[in-house]
Amino acid sequence: MSWPPATLRAQVSIPLTLADGSRVTARAFTFTGLRDGREHLALGLGGWADELDTGTSPRWTPLTRPPLTRVHSECLTGDVLGSRRCDCGPQLDEALHRLAEEGGLLLYLRQEGRGIGLYSKLDAYVLQDEGLDTYEANVALGYEEDARDYTVAAQMLRALGVDRVALLTNNADKVAQLEALGVDVVEKVPTGVHRSDANGRYLATKLDRHPPLAPRHQAHG
Ligand SMILES: [Zn+2]
Repeated sequence: MSWPPATLRAQVSIPLTLADGSRVTARAFTFTGLRDGREHLALGLGGWADELDTGTSPRWTPLTRPPLTRVHSECLTGDVLGSRRCDCGPQLDEALHRLAEEGGLLLYLRQEGRGIGLYSKLDAYVLQDEGLDTYEANVALGYEEDARDYTVAAQMLRALGVDRVALLTNNADKVAQLEALGVDVVEKVPTGVHRSDANGRYLATKLDRHPPLAPRHQAHG
């Protein structure tokens, strides 16, 4: 493979209150050797929070199925502030609920604004207000349409001893990128569509560029 291995650096429990008020405990994992040097985070939820041995060389207990996994790219405006310009906040909420129920992993990648950074994302919003779509705006600013890179997700999974996942996504491109990185996506679990008064065009563009998946295996488990 073309990327170096990362190793588990530390793990710690974090009690969470989800959007509906329910309380769950997540296990946060940090890593050494992630390719871009950023502080990406993995969260184990549900049964998966308890299935790692403690220590720096964890082993998942024998698995009856690959973990339900959500790869989420950071969106400060959506995740933290509840921006309705995109659907990141509701997508993250949905993922946390499902992972807490079924057990699984959230990989929270610090690649804000499809990898272009927060300020540039806000600059792109200015262009979108002038009529460009999400992808055209990024190109107008001199970036790729979508600069996200999932290499660090593959590194984190490998460091956690996970090489097969059930991926919570509607994005066929994300599946293809992870598989190209050596992650076996044995199942694609579709997510809901989260509309607001302000994200209709964003969602339509996303759907246009990333047509919905035809799940190979709908049933999970
Ligand atoms: Zn967002």
